[in-house]
Amino acid sequence: MSASPYPLGLRLDGRRVVVVGGGAVATRRVPALLDAGADVLLVAPELTPALRARVDAGRLHWVPRRFVPEDLDGAWLVQVAIDDPIAAASVSAVAAERRIFCVRADDRAAATAWTPAVTRQGPVTVAVLGGGDPRRAMSVRDAIRDLLAARPASAESAPPQSRADAATDTTSAAGATGGRVALVGAGPGDPELITVRGWRLLTEADVVVADRLVPGLLLDELRPDVELVDASKIPYGPSRAQEEINQILVDRALAGARVVRLKGGDPYVFGRGGEELLACAAAGVPVTVVPGVTSSIAAPAAAGIPVTHRGVAHEFTVVSGHLAPDSPASLVRWDALAGLRGTLVILMGLKNLAAIAETLIAHGRSPQTPAAVVQEGTTGAQRTLRSTLGAVAAEVLAAALRPPAVVVLGDVVGALDE
Ligand code: SAH
Repeated sequence: MSASPYPLGLRLDGRRVVVVGGGAVATRRVPALLDAGADVLLVAPELTPALRARVDAGRLHWVPRRFVPEDLDGAWLVQVAIDDPIAAASVSAVAAERRIFCVRADDRAAATAWTPAVTRQGPVTVAVLGGGDPRRAMSVRDAIRDLLAARPASAESAPPQSRADAATDTTSAAGATGGRVALVGAGPGDPELITVRGWRLLTEADVVVADRLVPGLLLDELRPDVELVDASKIPYGPSRAQEEINQILVDRALAGARVVRLKGGDPYVFGRGGEELLACAAAGVPVTVVPGVTSSIAAPAAAGIPVTHRGVAHEFTVVSGHLAPDSPASLVRWDALAGLRGTLVILMGLKNLAAIAETLIAHGRSPQTPAAVVQEGTTGAQRTLRSTLGAVAAEVLAAALRPPAVVVLGDVVGALDE
């Protein structure tokens, strides 16, 4: 039994790290090095396509040949990611001579440094060494990760602010109290389709303001002391209700709460996320936006319909059908949309579907265009109807489909059918 390892957090920003090897191991190791800001030099005669893509993107330097001792000039760390033990040992030997720590993928016993199993939560990094047993390290790491996900993090683990947050900063009134708002996309309906960051912020929240379309199961898992505001129950008309929601977000954040505004799909796709962001910014409340999986893509996908398909559709257009095509308030050029060949995805379109279909046909889209309607996509209650542009409105009525539903028009409907 050898002495126990001494853990360190290496600050690699701008520092040279040499990776020897361009195969599967290097492919797995390089991203974390780049994430740490390391100046990565990759030495390998050949690269996997994933590494090649990073080289092409200018993220790292590649010397396309076998290792020579000069490759370690200026290096702080070397990672040996090759299986050939003789070649690996010769890299190790050069590293040892120059007092450069050396990680060996092929031989832990011969390495002078070990890479831990890692989990990250905001700015906190947890690294676990298994004393020579990587599986054990991983299972301990997994247990810690689950524990962190279940427990609210302390106030200093603020989420990284997005670039859109320029209007706000942490010296503001709310920033001083730790209060802040995150506009989080909850995904289309299946509770597993929230992002990892969205889920983390949700588990850390003191106040959650949720939409009608948010997956109920996500709310089921909130801590009992979390204040849950149901935005769909707010009285008044839609514009007063929006002001009311903005006010709730701002008030709670100014009082020091970590507020999550949880919205169906993506916050910026017909979600009024922009208005909420501006209201928070105007009040000096730090605000961040976490994108979500939008129903406009996920609901068709859940029904087996890709919004684009090679040789079938080179475009998809997402449009709101909440106003009738002849409404003076409509901002949609339905006549122009009728001339597109690609996929048209209509949200909030059931009520006006007959008028929409009629308008598209009147301006030249074929009544034979394949059509599908997906109700409550990605949920257990999902229903799908296949039809044509000419017949879809009547069939939706006959089948008694109801919102939320997306309408998909175009040859992609059926593109994956056998
Ligand atoms: N921000 C949301 C859209 C909000 S508008 C997003 O990105 O998905 C609300 C409309 O979205 C509904 O009327 C419906 O057209 C669509 N929608 C939302 N969830 C849906 C689902 N699970 N299945 C089908 N359509 C859905």
